[in-house]
Amino acid sequence: MKTKTYGRCILCANHTFLTREHIFADWIGEIIPSTCNSTLSELIRPGDYKYSFRDIKPSERTLDILCDKCNNEWGGRLQRKASECLKPFLLGNKLVLNERDCRVIARWITCFTMVREFLHPELMIIPRLVRKSFRDKSDLPPKGFAVWIGRFNGPSRADYSSWHRTLNFLLTAKPTKAPNTTLMKFVVGKAVFFVMYTSVLELQEWDNAHHYAILKYLNSLGMQRIFNNTKTLDFTSSHIVDAHCYKNLMEQVSKHLGDPLPIITGVTNA
Ligand SMILES: [Zn+2]
Repeated sequence: MKTKTYGRCILCANHTFLTREHIFADWIGEIIPSTCNSTLSELIRPGDYKYSFRDIKPSERTLDILCDKCNNEWGGRLQRKASECLKPFLLGNKLVLNERDCRVIARWITCFTMVREFLHPELMIIPRLVRKSFRDKSDLPPKGFAVWIGRFNGPSRADYSSWHRTLNFLLTAKPTKAPNTTLMKFVVGKAVFFVMYTSVLELQEWDNAHHYAILKYLNSLGMQRIFNNTKTLDFTSSHIVDAHCYKNLMEQVSKHLGDPLPIITGVTNA
């Protein structure tokens, strides 16, 4: 029998017993079977540092990082709401997301991103206080987040793939060597997701050249910004991201951001 883990919940910050949180929620496995039997994770740093490890299949990967309340009560409600509007989108049966759908999905993706960061804690950017404030009082992703969603058409082995990269923008008034921006992409079923979070104040406002550059690029692939916008998103006649575009997404976005220094990349079945 597994020993219970005691520690600090990454959302409410309470010290307590922690429960196992699936990176990809249970309900996803019910509709999108995983064809991968194992996960290949890699950590890549600039230069020639590369570290790889094999892991269990991504749909079964869990992390002991949430308390029972955050996982089963708060998170359970969020998963129920998200599954209602996301299930048909992941299956390719629903192509219009109304304003409420967008809000729920944006929150779900934010929660996914916060949890997925802990698969490679050495890449962590999102501050504890930001996670706590999102858990306690926010109906929307915190400041600094931008979230895109698009339609995906590629091999089923892409399912449950995810890629996490951290960058260092030297724009900030107090430049440091630590990464300050995170990019994350992942695929589930017929949907592709892209998230950017930055702690650089100059980039958080989004009305800057860097942001418009990636907005334009992601729009050209048929991806639409689900947060922050307040409109219905219609994917009926939008482009569909194929396997080739998905593979190059991270490099291309980094280029459009002006090639800030890549710090570390964590890839899972890219
Ligand atoms: Zn908690």
